[in-house]
Amino acid sequence: MRIEIDNGNHLIFSANDNFLRFCELIGSKKTLKMYDPKFHFFDLIKQNSWSIKVNDGPFPFWMFNKNNRIPETSLIDYLSFLKLLICKKNDTVSDLFFNNKILFTSFWEPLTLGVLNSRCDQASASLIFNVLKKTFFRGGKFCRIIQPQQNWNETLIKPSLKFLKKNKINVNFNCSLKKIIVKNNFVNELVFNKNSEKIKNEDMVILSTPISMLKKFFPTMIIPTENNTILNIHFKVTVKCKFNPLIGMLNSISHWVFIKKDHISVTVSAANSMNDSSSDEIAKKIWQEVSKLFELEKPLPEYQVIKEKKATYNQSPKNIKLIEKIRSLPKNLILAGDWTQKNFPCTIESAILSGKNSLMIN
Ligand SMILES: Cc1cc2nc3c(=O)[nH]c(=O)nc-3n(C[C@H](O)[C@H](O)[C@H](O)COP(=O)(O)OP(=O)(O)OC[C@H]3O[C@@H](n4cnc5c(N)ncnc54)[C@H](O)[C@@H]3O)c2cc1C
Repeated sequence: MRIEIDNGNHLIFSANDNFLRFCELIGSKKTLKMYDPKFHFFDLIKQNSWSIKVNDGPFPFWMFNKNNRIPETSLIDYLSFLKLLICKKNDTVSDLFFNNKILFTSFWEPLTLGVLNSRCDQASASLIFNVLKKTFFRGGKFCRIIQPQQNWNETLIKPSLKFLKKNKINVNFNCSLKKIIVKNNFVNELVFNKNSEKIKNEDMVILSTPISMLKKFFPTMIIPTENNTILNIHFKVTVKCKFNPLIGMLNSISHWVFIKKDHISVTVSAANSMNDSSSDEIAKKIWQEVSKLFELEKPLPEYQVIKEKKATYNQSPKNIKLIEKIRSLPKNLILAGDWTQKNFPCTIESAILSGKNSLMIN
């Protein structure tokens, strides 16, 4: 039996209103599934599991309930969150929170890896602060977990293409931009693999390629060159689990385990150290962890490992500064793409926001 898998699992929070409005626009909001703001964790070394349920409203009542807190933490530990109020642009998540070992391993690390796809000793603390201000600090209503009922193809890709077709907008697949010819500080020509397109000064070009492509078009531009891998491994196995739709893994190679109808998917963020590992080696290691989580005694099932080596740039203070400094673009060129929203991480929400900003839509 064939199953459909998403390359990335793509977790969305209910705070992502640009995403929600986009789904409304393309008519796919009904294909979304919204889960309670309850986050389940499993510690592989300690072999224990626990959950945090974020209450509605900005006051964090959940922290006051001992049974709802991260094990071995007291209310006083959470006062360390206040450090964010005085965080500097250069601070990394480790600079602020590494000292509190339990909160660091059980909260800051999984959050930072999941949201910024960057290691805590490199990830920008102010970027994490901006995410928390939009989500956890506003309460559970903004931390509901959104997943597609079926898959992202049915929720985003197919409805987007249908929407574009209906509005008579062409999508040229397999048409790769090779060169941007600039004359007198205006884009004059776009050279594709199949053809080229003359551009007038009064035209506007929106370039929404990944940041890694920019250097190719503008070789002298100084931009971040460090990228981080996201690795997903999909196991063709069904499990019965009350902790839907995902479980955070601690003290393990696996970071997040997504439970799907006909398979399970494991995400490892900032997985650069596994770039050269074979799929077989990765599958065996991760299957061991997953077997412990679900108490399975099955041999390794069919699996698919997908490494996205340039999933995001390394979202460090230094790299964010480089993006902020990008100037001297041709006058009829606008940059778009998730990475251009420098106050927020590289996510689908940022990608949509960048599209709206480039068209100056509210
Ligand atoms: C494995 C994985 C997991 C992720 N998980 C999450 C998550 O949980 N939540 C979340 O919100 N986000 C997640 N993301 C990030 C999210 O997918 C991105 O933020 C989003 O897709 C960025 O959209 P974009 O349009 O900016 O760039 P992209 O989606 O990268 O689109 C850029 C497009 O440009 C095209 N292109 C590149 N070069 C050229 C060229 N020379 N000529 C023509 N076209 C070109 C590419 O083919 C591509 O279609 C994840 C990403 C990955 C890879």
